[in-house]
Amino acid sequence: MSLDNTSHFDRPGAGELVPSRYAVQVGDIGVLVVSDGVLPLPTEMLGYNADPDARAAWLSDMFLPPDAFDWSLNVVVVRSGDQTILIDAGLGLDPNLNLPRAGQLIQRLGSAGIDLASVTDVVLTHMHMDHIGGLLVEGVKERLRPDLRIHVAAAEIKFWEAPDFSHVFMPPGFPDALQSTATRFVQLYRANLRPFEEEHEVAPGVIVRRTGGHTPGHSVVRLASGDERLTFAGDAVFTVGFEKPEWHNGFEHDPEEAARVRIRLLRELAATGEQLVATHLPFPSVGRVAVDGDAFRWVPAFWDY
Ligand SMILES: [Zn+2]
Repeated sequence: MSLDNTSHFDRPGAGELVPSRYAVQVGDIGVLVVSDGVLPLPTEMLGYNADPDARAAWLSDMFLPPDAFDWSLNVVVVRSGDQTILIDAGLGLDPNLNLPRAGQLIQRLGSAGIDLASVTDVVLTHMHMDHIGGLLVEGVKERLRPDLRIHVAAAEIKFWEAPDFSHVFMPPGFPDALQSTATRFVQLYRANLRPFEEEHEVAPGVIVRRTGGHTPGHSVVRLASGDERLTFAGDAVFTVGFEKPEWHNGFEHDPEEAARVRIRLLRELAATGEQLVATHLPFPSVGRVAVDGDAFRWVPAFWDY
């Protein structure tokens, strides 16, 4: 991508003038966080079990608008040994959803010089559409290797055969869209699916582990090489989850278990001091977790240029 347009503001450039990827090294493992864009969602979904005044106060303290704000959508590419692993796939481009600022992943992988045919493995933290939609974009499957392995918890595939939406708090239309997207994904990629039960080593130092909570098959990815570690937490942690880990997120299918999973994971990350990346934390979402009284604090990494 050319940055030539930085010195010629009056001329359109070839690429976008926004940061869309950030690289981190974890021992011998290369990690690239790629932004799929942003997704506007109502703020009520952040903590629908919380007192509305407490929620409004938190938003005000964060200088966020009261009604809706943009959630980041972060995807991670991992290189370990001779494998290139895509962790989640963004929202994709569904014109019916009217979410034009999301679904940038495929274009941005191209800008980063990552050929879809070089991807050997995909790991799915879960099968919500903002994590699988990129693989459903027209023409993408044809560009992927026929022997691509897609690792996802067996419990996740099973869940979407008859999903339970009785404990969620989503905007209208979302349950139907989530269910039909997950169904379409399984139909299209059935031959590539490599289900695991609790844990699977995808590549040297790259372990996917089921947590449940957000969805029954929700999983996190733990990277370890030398004495360095990084965890990709998927949707186990949201921006509000450090200070208010017990607030229920509207997308959680078992919100009480999701809160237990979140607190356990944040405690562990605070103890190890390892790096954390999560789907919906502000891009590039690389940072660490500190204990703060009986809650937690997000400590963003200093960008390393
Ligand atoms: Zn999500």
